[in-house]
Amino acid sequence: MIYLDHNATTPADPRVVKKMLPYFSEKYGNPSSVHSFGQEARAAIEEARHHIATLMHCHEKEIIFTSGGTEANNLAIRGTLEATKKKGRHLVTSSIEHHAVLNVFKRLEKEGYEVTFLPVNSDGRIEIQTLAEALRPDTVLVSVMTANNESGVMEPIEEIGFLLHERGILFHTDAVQAVGKIPLDCSSLPIDLLSASAHKFGGPKGAGFVYCRKNIRINPQIVGGHHEKGRRAGTENVPCIIGMGKAAEIAHQEINKEVFRIGALRDKLEEGILKSIPEVRIVSKNVLRLYNTSLVLVKYVEGEAMLLNLDFEGIEVSSGSACTSGSLEPSHVLLACGYPHEDAHGSIRFSLGKTNTEEEINTVLEVFPRVVEKLRKMSPFKAQSLT
Ligand SMILES: *Cc1c(COP(=O)(O)O)cnc(C)c1O
Repeated sequence: MIYLDHNATTPADPRVVKKMLPYFSEKYGNPSSVHSFGQEARAAIEEARHHIATLMHCHEKEIIFTSGGTEANNLAIRGTLEATKKKGRHLVTSSIEHHAVLNVFKRLEKEGYEVTFLPVNSDGRIEIQTLAEALRPDTVLVSVMTANNESGVMEPIEEIGFLLHERGILFHTDAVQAVGKIPLDCSSLPIDLLSASAHKFGGPKGAGFVYCRKNIRINPQIVGGHHEKGRRAGTENVPCIIGMGKAAEIAHQEINKEVFRIGALRDKLEEGILKSIPEVRIVSKNVLRLYNTSLVLVKYVEGEAMLLNLDFEGIEVSSGSACTSGSLEPSHVLLACGYPHEDAHGSIRFSLGKTNTEEEINTVLEVFPRVVEKLRKMSPFKAQSLT
């Protein structure tokens, strides 16, 4: 199998798994227990928090553990809105967010907030001027993702943050696709709240965190005991949190080592595709984007058909957003960038990771053009365009 779907999930690093294993069996203590057996688990959790704080350049107290990126987004957005003293009713987000942000805002709309879903330009970027014009005196919170999961496009979060801080507006960023892939420095970035997920950077599924800048009030969304300083109740997922800590430690040490190698493989893949397949385009090719991601639009062919044919050949990719596959809706990200429906339907995402090799990319460059050619021969769209 050639796995090119790392934006959907990554394999847990073997060093992560090794670190987690004892906490299922011999070290099963509850970190809230007062006895030393429980306190051993507590110490391991706090060590994990330390590794994450080091990766994010923040204080340990600013990290709140959650069950993943989705819960992190819910807690960061809803938790601060509930706690804020500034009682404005206007919120801003972008139209290209992951559903774990978009649907939180759609729910808030039903609950009486007014939400502006900002458009993006044809590159998939928020324009700072558009944001500035959308802000109102009663705007309380803005959420814009750090990097898009489908296209890899990076949003201008630094510029956005500085603008918002001048106006006293809270800024949240869904950084699930960026954490562990690119360096992020919360001590200098103008960010109040940030969400991340372990399984997107070599950790286990079922763990994530919110970075919540100190002095920002946040109400728990899961209510119960006094875990995470009263910000998220429930006995900690000890093995997964420890795994996430190890993944953060590895990312912090190796972040610069892999960027160049993976980036070169992605570039080779793109050059090969452009050379061997007519009528394709790479979305936002010349825009600042994640070095591991390539979103390809192939004319006259359905993304799902390419995905299934590649799967049959042992190559695992994604068509548009994983969350929308299974439904016939084209990617909301591509539509927001202004691509017509028929182009958006022909999208396929390659997302690379640490395990990928040059040999694998060579195989993809041999198989993918053949798959496209075969599908185009049977394509009703192609036939239509020729008549
Ligand atoms: C995967 C992803 C999420 C959801 O994270 P989970 O840990 O799977 O809940 C949120 N936002 C983005 C951008 C993602 O890629």
